[in-house]
Amino acid sequence: MPTSDLLTAERIAEIGALEYENTDSAALVAELVGAVDEGRVADPDDTGYALLVAADILEQAGDLDDALTLATRAIAEQPDDNAHARSVRGGLLLRLGRDDEGLAELTALRPALETDPGAMHLIDGLMESGHTETALEWLTGALEAILERTRTQQHSSEDAQDEAAAMIYGLVQQRHDLREEMGLPHDDHDHLADRLRAASDHALDALDDDGPATLLFWPQAEFDALLVRWPALVDSYPAQWDEHRAQLERALADAAGLGTADLGVVAGSVAGLATFAERNGGDPTDEDTLDEYADSLSGTDLRAWPPGRNDACWCGSGSKYKKCCLPRSRS
Ligand SMILES: [Zn+2]
Ligand SMILES: [Zn+2]
Repeated sequence: MPTSDLLTAERIAEIGALEYENTDSAALVAELVGAVDEGRVADPDDTGYALLVAADILEQAGDLDDALTLATRAIAEQPDDNAHARSVRGGLLLRLGRDDEGLAELTALRPALETDPGAMHLIDGLMESGHTETALEWLTGALEAILERTRTQQHSSEDAQDEAAAMIYGLVQQRHDLREEMGLPHDDHDHLADRLRAASDHALDALDDDGPATLLFWPQAEFDALLVRWPALVDSYPAQWDEHRAQLERALADAAGLGTADLGVVAGSVAGLATFAERNGGDPTDEDTLDEYADSLSGTDLRAWPPGRNDACWCGSGSKYKKCCLPRSRS
């Protein structure tokens, strides 16, 4: 690896997706931190990201002190956008036995559990350091606050209702699974979790021969090429690829929150769409053609959604889902 190269977001994501046990973790940390030290991060907004991936490698290697140093530095590098870095730092402090400091850091972020599904990082930090009771208490608190709001605010917008439904679904399932791990019996919220999950199964049956509910996704290079080839599609898609995948993630989370099961994405290609439209005599910029094209792909290239939190993200970035589109859709 030449040391004069710029460190791109793609390279950071690639390192983040590696299985550290089988790689030279010291070299990866040096590559990331070296680029930060020497001002070689291609997009300065990714500086904190690079440091957090390095911190994660060190944490997995058991070097908690150095991981903490990097997480603390990530916070300082990006003072305006550091909630994730602070939750990583809080989790590390807890794992180091510095409970007061760690809990103070995480408690300051706790309100985000009611509004931001990406805040589930806090719960990871608590659980990985053995603070299971606190994790359960926070999940319950956030869940009940949202349930209470949906009961009392009857005039909220449809978007706000969808968002609340997706939050409730995420919190109640996470809480259900945590309580199961703790060997606790089902309470009312767990029954709600079961009902919502069963509603998903029911929605699956209702889809019958339509197969999975799939959305058409354009990988980055295809997305850029798509709008060049068919400028008329600018009205159907956002200007930025990041927003395209964020929109899909939001739509999928909403669908799951409303009980749709068996969700997935299919990756389109410009060449594939051109061939499909030609063969079927359709206009490639027409909604129906795009829908039929997506259906034609669902038999061969379906990516099930959601992936596991630690599995590769569905968007093909190479990053773990929990570090890629899961948080992206909520920003
Ligand atoms: Zn259950
Ligand atoms: Zn992604």
